[in-house]
Amino acid sequence: MSNFKDTVLVSGGAGYIGTHTAVALMEAGYRVVIIDNFSNSEPSAIEGVKQIVGHDVIFEQVDTCRTDELRRVFERYDFSTVIHFAAYKAVGESMDEPLKYYMNNLLSYMNILELMKEFKRPNVLFSSSATVYGDADVLPVTENTPRKPATSPYGNTKQMAEDILRDCCAAYEGMYGIALRYFNPIGAHPSALIGELPRGVPNNLLPYVTQTAAGIRECISIFGNDYDTEDGTCLRDYIDVVDLAAAHVAAVDRMTEKKMKTKYEIFNVGTGRPVSVLELVTRFEKANNLKLNYRFAPRREGDVPAVWADTALANKELGWVAARDLDDTLRSAWAWEKHLRGIK
Ligand code: UDP
Repeated sequence: MSNFKDTVLVSGGAGYIGTHTAVALMEAGYRVVIIDNFSNSEPSAIEGVKQIVGHDVIFEQVDTCRTDELRRVFERYDFSTVIHFAAYKAVGESMDEPLKYYMNNLLSYMNILELMKEFKRPNVLFSSSATVYGDADVLPVTENTPRKPATSPYGNTKQMAEDILRDCCAAYEGMYGIALRYFNPIGAHPSALIGELPRGVPNNLLPYVTQTAAGIRECISIFGNDYDTEDGTCLRDYIDVVDLAAAHVAAVDRMTEKKMKTKYEIFNVGTGRPVSVLELVTRFEKANNLKLNYRFAPRREGDVPAVWADTALANKELGWVAARDLDDTLRSAWAWEKHLRGIK
């Protein structure tokens, strides 16, 4: 019974990007082993994945910081590739609790790398972030744009993890790595069965917008309208999470089909199109035919005025493009929020 292409371990596979990627991998013919400790996700996310793919999925509740638990997963499943999503991701919290971030994000990552080496499993796909570019001097950013010193422990863990992977791939003969630098993932699966599940007050823009539309938040604060941009609000590159998931499948294909050009590669995963915060809010209103309360508020500390991707390398090497239309993405985000809240 091995009519699947290969097996992929997905750590943090109950999370926002993890669930969408697990679905995309299974639909592309991979066998997927999902592990998660539900520290920032829910078992219902796994149920959503099952419903979409139409069969049971392999899931183990594992804390990737625990070597003993992780080792059992390596002993039990013969995967060639790991996609490591499991990490904390709140920038502000990382400034208040740096050790929590360094311990969790780096320990879990090094446990995985060490076991990949020991069990001679070749391929490591790491979830990096456009945050590594900081306030870039030239836009759009390419993979060769110099990284700026990180402005938060969270951002620092992304930079350190990239470097750790680069060094491991250089040192260990059998190890190959790809870092995908995500821009701003938004939206949800078109089925509205999986999506982002923020706990408490959302830090990110779109969950705040959808919760405001649902009546959970009163008013959106747009952080800063005095930036040097056309409408004064920040510019970001919002990528549909389903497109982002497809980029992971393309990267896994590249690794498992041994098409990598160097042992460690980096790709930007964005749309290449900058959208302002104000534009995102007003496009959401129009796409969903509703009105939102919003007001301009002071700048948020640590925000860069603008960042968007040069996607040429990912387009060419991964044979991948961000295909979904922004309005459809904004509709999918609202459909998911309505599903969550039981709104008709
Ligand atoms: N933002 C905002 N109000 C919010 C949350 C975010 O105006 O309640 C802005 C934020 O200042 C940034 C953009 O939306 O310019 C995207 O922020 P997010 O936290 O989603 O992602 P980031 O780009 O910071 O990783």
